[in-house]
Amino acid sequence: MDGNGHAHDEVRSSWTLEEVRALHRLPFADLMHRAQTVHRRHFDPNEVQVSTLLSVKTGACPEDCAYCPQSIRYDTGLEREALMEPEAVVERARAARDAGATRFCMGAAWRSPKDRDLEKVAAMVEGVASLGLETCATLGMLTPAQAKRLKDAGLDYYNHNLDTSEAFYGEVITTRTYQDRLDTLAAVRAAGINVCCGGILGMGEQPEDRVAFLHTLATLEPHPESVPINNLVQVEGTPLAGTAALDPLEFVRIIALARILMPRSHVRLSAGRSAMSDEMQALCFLAGANSIFYGEKLLTTGNPDTASDHALFERLGIRPEAH
Ligand code: SF4
Repeated sequence: MDGNGHAHDEVRSSWTLEEVRALHRLPFADLMHRAQTVHRRHFDPNEVQVSTLLSVKTGACPEDCAYCPQSIRYDTGLEREALMEPEAVVERARAARDAGATRFCMGAAWRSPKDRDLEKVAAMVEGVASLGLETCATLGMLTPAQAKRLKDAGLDYYNHNLDTSEAFYGEVITTRTYQDRLDTLAAVRAAGINVCCGGILGMGEQPEDRVAFLHTLATLEPHPESVPINNLVQVEGTPLAGTAALDPLEFVRIIALARILMPRSHVRLSAGRSAMSDEMQALCFLAGANSIFYGEKLLTTGNPDTASDHALFERLGIRPEAH
């Protein structure tokens, strides 16, 4: 129990900012021990959930997210690709399943989907679900009616990231507000779809922003089922290229914090993993990360290839989590 009478691994949304700050200040060994203790109470520590991500519509996005090579505002040399046909997506999903993925995520670079496009995505979701894979989509902002349509098609998860703290958000994105993001998350939740929501570290935010960002996630009720934590991949041509890199140990700390604050959520190592050493990934798993993307290119930036992931799992005695 802590001083407030809370069991350490109680699942709750009542975290205070001060509690999150206090965790963040813990000595590294204490923080890791606490994260690992919570992790073991809720998960098999030797299992990691494996997702594959496919970009089903690439580039030409009207939004101005300062980290993103898909924004139409930044010249990054990215090839644009129109919305894929559902049959082609299902083909790729089958290959991902055969390579060991249990969840297939479909990403489209939109501000929000048009209803015509949403019907195509619904067909993709139906096709991918029929392969026995869990389905996830990330399509930008959704109305409650659009969320319901996706739920009816069989969508299991919707990804929509808060990205960072509310205070720092305006430095990264100006074309929609933090509240817009929270509204989409609420629509997804109300439709009965699981929520995948996290953010990006290393965008030039202060430690207090990372604390506030995690506090916002951990006070959502219920917590997001899936919490992707990305390390900024700096893409030449985007405004965030040249940002000072984050201390890798601070990244591990944030993973540990996410684990402690949201004990039952899958904490996912996402973008930026290809720049991490095997040792750093091992520390992240120890801190409670238990989900990765593998296989396909991670939307438009590189991802370690499946072979090196298999080798790392082998060296660490990690098994992919069954569906
Ligand atoms: S992160 Fe998403 S919404 Fe933002 S510019 Fe990239 S594709 Fe568009």
